[in-house]
Amino acid sequence: MRIVLLLALLWVLPASAAEPSKPVVLKAARLFDAKSGKLLSPGVLVVTAGKISAVGASAAVPAGAEVIELGDATLLPGFIDAHTHLTGQPGEDWRQDVIDRMQRTIPERTMEALPYARATLMAGFTTVRNLGGEDFIDVGLRNGIRRGKAVGPRILAATSGLGSTGGHCDGGNSWRKGLLAQESGQGVADGPDAFRARVREHLKYGADVIKVCATGGVLSRNDDVDSPQLTQAELDAIVDEAHARKRKVAAHAHGAEGARRAIRAGVDSIEHGSFLDDEALELMKRKGTFYVPTAIALRGVKERYEKGLLAPEQIPKFKAAEASARQVLRKATSRGVRIAFGTDAGVFAHGRNAEEFALLVEGGLAPADALRAATSVNAELLGLVNQLGTLEAGKLADIVAVPGDPLQDIRRAERVFFVMKEGVIYRNDRAAPAAVAR
Ligand SMILES: [Zn+2]
Repeated sequence: MRIVLLLALLWVLPASAAEPSKPVVLKAARLFDAKSGKLLSPGVLVVTAGKISAVGASAAVPAGAEVIELGDATLLPGFIDAHTHLTGQPGEDWRQDVIDRMQRTIPERTMEALPYARATLMAGFTTVRNLGGEDFIDVGLRNGIRRGKAVGPRILAATSGLGSTGGHCDGGNSWRKGLLAQESGQGVADGPDAFRARVREHLKYGADVIKVCATGGVLSRNDDVDSPQLTQAELDAIVDEAHARKRKVAAHAHGAEGARRAIRAGVDSIEHGSFLDDEALELMKRKGTFYVPTAIALRGVKERYEKGLLAPEQIPKFKAAEASARQVLRKATSRGVRIAFGTDAGVFAHGRNAEEFALLVEGGLAPADALRAATSVNAELLGLVNQLGTLEAGKLADIVAVPGDPLQDIRRAERVFFVMKEGVIYRNDRAAPAAVAR
C-alpha cells in the first residue's frame, strides 16, 4: 500500500523544473568540432527539446524558433571536468577548516555546496565527475540538480573515495584516537574482499563511478605523497567489481609504484600522476589508460603555500610534487598518453576550472587538444559519448560560447559568457537577464 502511494506521488512530480520550451537556433562566428579539433564557420546549432537537432549553416530554422545571435564568438560542447570535489572548498585557515568539519551537519554542508555547483556551471562546465565527498552529499546534489531543485552541472558521483586505513582517502587521517565518533572515512577498508564490499555498498547508495586512492596525497597530513597504499590484490578486486557492474574506476596516484598497480588492475584513469615514470607511462599508453593531470590543483596548493596556509606536514609533499609534475605532463603528451581534463576543484575555489586549459597547453598539448580533453575525450572517459562531448545532431544540448577564437588564445576558454545545459540557457551575458533560466 505504501509503495503504491509513493509511486503515485512520484508520478505527479514534474520531470524537470526547467523544461526547455520552443526550438532555439544559436548563431556564432565559429563552432568547435571536437572530433577533428577544427573550427567550422559560421557556427549554427538548432536545439529542440533539450537536444541538438541540426548543425551547420544549411540547417533549416524550425517554425517559431527563437534565434540567438552570439556574434564574434565560438560555440563549443559544454565542458566536462573529470575531477571535482563539489562538496567542499578550503577556507583561509586550515585549523579552522578542521574545527568546521567537526561542527557542520550534513544539511549545512549540502547547502554550502549549492554555490559551488552553480559557479561550476556558470564557468561552462555542464558535466562533472565528482571524485570524492563524504556522507553521500554528492548523490543528493546530483539528484537535486537533475530534478531542477538546484542549479549546477550534471554530476557523476563517486561518493567517498576508497582507500586503506590511514591513507589519503581516510578522512580520519591525522586525528587523535577517540576524538571522532566515526574514526575513518566511509570508503576505508583493508583487504580485497572488504574493498569489494565497499564497491557494492557505494553502488547500492547511488555512486556512478568508483574513486580509489592508490597512493598517498599532498594534503593528507600523515602519509607520504608517493608510497603505494593499496596492494595489487586490493586494486584488482575493486576494478573487477566495478567493471562487472559497468562502472569506471578513477585512481588517485602520485607515486609510480602505486600508479603501476592501478594501471595493471585496469583502472580507467590515473589522477594527478605527479611522479609517473617511463614504465608507468608506457603501460598507460599500451592499456589506453587516461591521464588526468589536474595541473591547476598544484597551482591552487601553491597559492595556499605562498599565503602561509599549508599545514607544516603538507609543505615538503607539495614541493616534491611540484618539482616533478610538469615534466611528467610533458613526457606524457610527447609519448601520446591520452590526456583528459580534470581540475581537483575544491582544492581551490570552484569556478576557476577553465584555468586548466592554459596549463595543459603549457604542458605540451595543442589548444585544440586541450579543448578536446574537456569535451570529446572526457565524454569517452565518462562513458557518455552517445550523449555528450561533441556538437552533433542527437546529442544533449550542452553548449557554451566564448568570445573570439580559443585556438588563437586558449585563455578565452576562461571567458565563457553563454551556458546551455540540456536546452536550458543558464547564462547569456549578451542578452537581457529575462532571457536566462536563472
Ligand atoms: Zn581530488
